[in-house]
Amino acid sequence: MIHPATELRYVNDTIGYGVFATRFIPRGTMTWVRDKLDQAFTASRMSAMDRSYWEILEKYSFVDRNGHAILCWDLARFVNHSCEANCLGAGYDFEIAVEDIEPGEELTDDYGTLNLAAPFACSCSARGCRRAVVPDDAARYADLWDRRVQGVFSLLPHVEQPLWRFVEEKAEIELALKDPARLRSARFNLFVGTNPLARVADSFAMS
Ligand SMILES: [Zn+2]
Repeated sequence: MIHPATELRYVNDTIGYGVFATRFIPRGTMTWVRDKLDQAFTASRMSAMDRSYWEILEKYSFVDRNGHAILCWDLARFVNHSCEANCLGAGYDFEIAVEDIEPGEELTDDYGTLNLAAPFACSCSARGCRRAVVPDDAARYADLWDRRVQGVFSLLPHVEQPLWRFVEEKAEIELALKDPARLRSARFNLFVGTNPLARVADSFAMS
């Protein structure tokens, strides 16, 4: 579930739509939490459906640590990638604002954290744009993502958290707040195995 102070806006013909803040969202705010309305698809469930459904999932879903393609039911599926994202996954089932987000500013995350099925060319406006975002970016950037999350994690109890009621990892978060050594790495969310979106793409190519 995306933070309630957001709205969908058209960006341009290349990017399509994006998610923008309707008011100030301070760093340390949870900007997205996985909730019970988000759908999880296994490779076999995807294979059993028409290719047209896979095309939608390929565009709008991400792959979680269990190898499921997750389709967010709300605006969250329109969050765009940035190589200097202002929201990052923390090794949990939520994303956190790693910078203050001003009203009218776009919320972005780093698709490198989302178990990409295939590389894509990037032309985001970040000074440090990687130009190509590839499935094994996590190996190179996980430490950087972890540092950015570590820099704001302790703010979690000190800013308004409208999504807190949907969090299912409250105990794990409270443990990490008491003992920062318990904080998960972005690596925790990486799926090890054949990416289900890629596997289904291969099965369609063969059929
Ligand atoms: Zn970029």
